[in-house]
Amino acid sequence: MLGGDGIGPEVVAEARKLIDILSADHGLAVTCEEGLVGGAAYDAEGTPLPTRTLEQARLADAILLGAVGGPAWEALPYAERPERGLLGIRAALDLYANLRPAMTYPELAAASSLKPQLVAGLDLMIVRELTGGIYFGEPRGIKTADNGERTGFNTLVYSEPEIERIARTAFEVAQVRGRRVCSVDKANVLESTELWREVVTEVGRDYPDCELSHLYVDNAAMQLVRQPRQFDVIVTTNMFGDILSDVAAMLTGSIGMLPSASLNSKGQGMYEPVHGSAPDIAGKGIANPLATVLSVAMMLRYSLGEAALADRVDRAVARVIADGLRTADIYQGEGRMVGTAEMGDAVIAAL
Ligand code: NAD
Repeated sequence: MLGGDGIGPEVVAEARKLIDILSADHGLAVTCEEGLVGGAAYDAEGTPLPTRTLEQARLADAILLGAVGGPAWEALPYAERPERGLLGIRAALDLYANLRPAMTYPELAAASSLKPQLVAGLDLMIVRELTGGIYFGEPRGIKTADNGERTGFNTLVYSEPEIERIARTAFEVAQVRGRRVCSVDKANVLESTELWREVVTEVGRDYPDCELSHLYVDNAAMQLVRQPRQFDVIVTTNMFGDILSDVAAMLTGSIGMLPSASLNSKGQGMYEPVHGSAPDIAGKGIANPLATVLSVAMMLRYSLGEAALADRVDRAVARVIADGLRTADIYQGEGRMVGTAEMGDAVIAAL
């Protein structure tokens, strides 16, 4: 458990309470260790990712991370910035599959930027390739010609094994959800995603219980804001996933409610709320811990093989929302406003 910075330790403390209760009363067999990452690690040890933290991460089945970053560390050189801690763990563990669910609880649908009737009951999962594609492809750079004219360039490259493994992740996720996968590419223009489409289609034959469809990314963007409930699982490249998952996040209306997971082929995963360290509200006890609590549910489901417990945690969150408990970020004038710890306690009570 890596609390990190800002509200990170506050929301992770609520997750810790939940895990302790799951262990004590609900048969979860898990051992927790805590470690330093991000700005907190830099302050204590002069690096955002101490060797000991990386070792702990490697040995763990799952990592729960709060958030990293904040104004105090913004002036540091790139290699010492808090985000390097997070990126370092991702790279070291080869966490290539980023799972970003977007769910809208009926009671919170009014917070969406779309009409409530379009998003109430939304439950989709974006599976984004995280370690390849144009963000990592070589060659890359900015070159200057003899006449002084500059050219910026990046390379969009995907190998067959890279596509195959992310496709398998997507189908496996679909198998425990609605059994529908929509692969998003730009195969009409980009050869690398022409291959993407071919390989995803081939992999799909191994999952006859799942339905596979394809969309070009421009159409997918349109469909996401037109009729988001048509989707179950969307699988896509690093850059398209980066953009589409933020669109999907906005549909739900609340960043404080969104969990995420990043997995490798061994089922090891890093679980974290989508939000950042929220320096503006850190230390006030008002941060919404539910994104982190829902990240614990994902951890139970995808790394710890505890789907039934995951369902219970998801239901407990739905229950506290239905009961009208609201942290400030999701308060819309109805229900009862509570702080971080009270929300965490309510989830445990609902469990
Ligand atoms: P942010 O997500 O931290 O905050 C955006 C807004 O949402 C703020 O007004 C904040 O108060 C609110 N918010 C976020 N989480 C909330 C929660 N759980 N409950 C209630 N309100 C919440 O994004 P930002 O302000 O752009 O970034 C702040 C810092 O976090 C920066 O240093 C940034 O680099 C870092 N960051 C880290 C991660 C990560 O660790 N994965 C992700 C994004 C940003």
